[in-house]
Amino acid sequence: MSFRNIVGQDRIVSYLRKALIEKKTSHAFLFEGLRGLGKKTLAFELAKGICCEDEEDKPCGKCSSCVKAERNSNTNIIWVKDEKTIKIEAIRRIQDEVKIKTFDGDSRVYVICDSEKMTIQAQNALLKTLEDPPQKLFFILLTINSNSLLPTIVSRCQLLKLRAARVGEIQKYLSEENEMPASKSKVIAALSNGSIGKAIKISTDKAYVERRNAVIHMTKDIISGSVFSVLSKTDFLNTEKDNIFEIFEMLISWYRDLIIYKEAEQLDYIINCDKIEEIAFQAQKTETQRLSNAILIIEETRANINNNANYQLSLEVMLLNIQEVFNYGNNCRSSVQEGR
Ligand SMILES: [Zn+2]
Repeated sequence: MSFRNIVGQDRIVSYLRKALIEKKTSHAFLFEGLRGLGKKTLAFELAKGICCEDEEDKPCGKCSSCVKAERNSNTNIIWVKDEKTIKIEAIRRIQDEVKIKTFDGDSRVYVICDSEKMTIQAQNALLKTLEDPPQKLFFILLTINSNSLLPTIVSRCQLLKLRAARVGEIQKYLSEENEMPASKSKVIAALSNGSIGKAIKISTDKAYVERRNAVIHMTKDIISGSVFSVLSKTDFLNTEKDNIFEIFEMLISWYRDLIIYKEAEQLDYIINCDKIEEIAFQAQKTETQRLSNAILIIEETRANINNNANYQLSLEVMLLNIQEVFNYGNNCRSSVQEGR
């Protein structure tokens, strides 16, 4: 079966399938989409399809080209990846390789990951090949943002934009392909933000699960109002410096869930749906306005950290401010809010 493991890109997949069978594939593609949407998986399937020997089902997954590709030993599918910058020398190397014919005149595909990392010189060099492409030579460029490439490169490629998958699509994939129980797949799909890459990471990464539990535990301490235990959380946040933006996201989704629990009838919209009891418990302890204020504080801290503010100080201030929001007086106004 062709184009397996691709979630939420039905329109692109059916277009590529048709183009492969009709042998009308463009010689250069540009896949644009955020991280984790499946650009590499899609490029791999397309590259396999271009090189596939079957006439009707491309990629068939059975011919010698497909089998080699699955074993990462198909020398006609060449990846340029994990580069800090893609310099002109890398493109020249490709151009030199292209001059040597493939065995039996097979098709050859170059996949350039993070193509926005190409220097201007590299892009201009590649442009020459894209303008006058040798037969049976294909390029698949991947990028998070096509605007960061020269317009001349973009205009020479067929641009296909990947979209975020729907929660239901990710849940279906996890249940069917990974045989995951519905209770688990529902939570992971909700946490994935439409990114299949993130869904797979969450379902296989134990550290993610532990981190999430620690964050939820932290929200318990914050709402219960113990300044000492809240400040002790800075140790946890200091060790999680590399994952702090993920933690901000977890906190925001948590407080957003509390608001939904309080305000909306539809509990289907709750992301942390495996923690409903804790959500219900925390929700009855506070008011919606305070939750909104907490989200604002987290967003502000995220922006400060992004702008290289002092890490530890910013997080201590964040924790104390959130705690103050939840515990200050009987009305919803707090000194933090008044300071805005
Ligand atoms: Zn095949």
